[in-house]
Amino acid sequence: MMAGGRKAFSLAARESSILVVGGAGYIGCHAAHALRRMGYEAILYDNLSRGHRFLGKGFELIEADIFDTEILSGALKRVSAVMHFAADSQVGESVQNPRKYFRNNVEGGIALLNATLDAGVSKFIFSSTCAVYGVPERSPITEEMPRRPVNPYGMSKLFFENALEACAPAYGLRSVSLRYFNAAGADEQENIGELHEPETHLIPCALKAVTGERGALQIFGTDYPTPDGTCIRDYIHVSDLAEAHVLALKHLDGIAGAAQYNLGTGEGASVQKVIATIEEVTGTSVPRRLAERRPGDPPELVADPSRAQAALGWKARRGLREIVETAWQWEQKMAAQTARNTGA
Ligand code: UDP
Repeated sequence: MMAGGRKAFSLAARESSILVVGGAGYIGCHAAHALRRMGYEAILYDNLSRGHRFLGKGFELIEADIFDTEILSGALKRVSAVMHFAADSQVGESVQNPRKYFRNNVEGGIALLNATLDAGVSKFIFSSTCAVYGVPERSPITEEMPRRPVNPYGMSKLFFENALEACAPAYGLRSVSLRYFNAAGADEQENIGELHEPETHLIPCALKAVTGERGALQIFGTDYPTPDGTCIRDYIHVSDLAEAHVLALKHLDGIAGAAQYNLGTGEGASVQKVIATIEEVTGTSVPRRLAERRPGDPPELVADPSRAQAALGWKARRGLREIVETAWQWEQKMAAQTARNTGA
C-alpha cells in the first residue's frame, strides 16, 4: 500500500513538474513564474553562462550544462515536459560568429532533444523566433509563409523546429514551437526583467542611454522602405509570452505532432516610434545618433497572431506603452542596485 501510494504520489509530482531549460534567463524566468501561478512546479536548469542566479530565486535551480547528459537525464526523470529557452539570441552576433550558434543552438538543442526522448518525456515547448521567416513577402506574417531565415540565428532555430517535427511521427513527441516576435518589458510584480551582457536590444539600450549607463543609442539604418525609414518590429510583453507557454503546455495534452504559433501583438512599431514612447514614459530625451544598417535585419516583422488565439486562446494583453513602463521600472531598479553595490 505504502509503496504504491508513494509511487502514485511521485507520478503525480512528475506530471506537474516542468523542466525549464535556460530558466535563469530573461524569458525562462518569466515562464517559471507563470507556471507557478498556474499550479505547476518549475525546475530550472541553467549553466548560468547567460542566465543570472537571482532571476531564478525561489525556484530549484540545477546549475549544469545542456551537454552534461548525466545531470540532464537525472533532471528529465522528474518531469513530464520540457520548456527550452537555452540559446544564443543575437542576430548581429550570429552573423559574425555562426559557429557559436550552430554549437549552442543546434548541437545543444539536439543534445537536449535526445536526452528528452531517452527519458520518455513526450511534451516539448520550444522558444522559436520570427527570424525563421527571414525577409517576409507580406506583413503581417502568418505561420504558413515560407521559412527562409537570413541570419544564422534564424537558421539555427528553424533547424530545431524541423527536428521537433521529424520526431513527432517517429517517436510520438508532441511539441509546440512558439515563434516570438520582439520580447521586451518586465514582470509587473516579481523582481525579474531583462539583463543581457552585453545588452544589444533596442528598448534596454535606449533606456540605458537615458540613464547614462551607456552612450547614445545608435539607430541602425534610416533608409529602410518603411514610413519613417527605420525598422518595424512587433514588440511583445514578456509576461504575455510567459502566459502563452503555460497555455501551450495545456494544449499539448490535446494534440499529436508538432505545432507552431506566432506570438506577437499584430501591431508594428518603428525604432522611431519606440524612442518616442520611451521619451513619453521617461520624460527625458533619448540621446541618439544615426548609424549604418545592422547586417541581418529585415525591414519589417509583424505577427499575425490569430492562429495562437484560435488554438491556445491566447492574446497579448499588454501594448508598447506597458512594455516600456515595466522595462523602465526594471531599469531603474537595476541601476539603484548597482549604485548600492558599488556604494555610489
Ligand atoms: N536597433 C537599433 N539600435 C540598437 C538596437 C536595435 O536601432 O541599439 C534596432 C534593430 O536594428 C532592429 C530593432 O531595433 O530594427 C530591434 O532590434 P533588437 O536587437 O531589439 O531585436 P531583433 O529584432 O534583432 O530581435
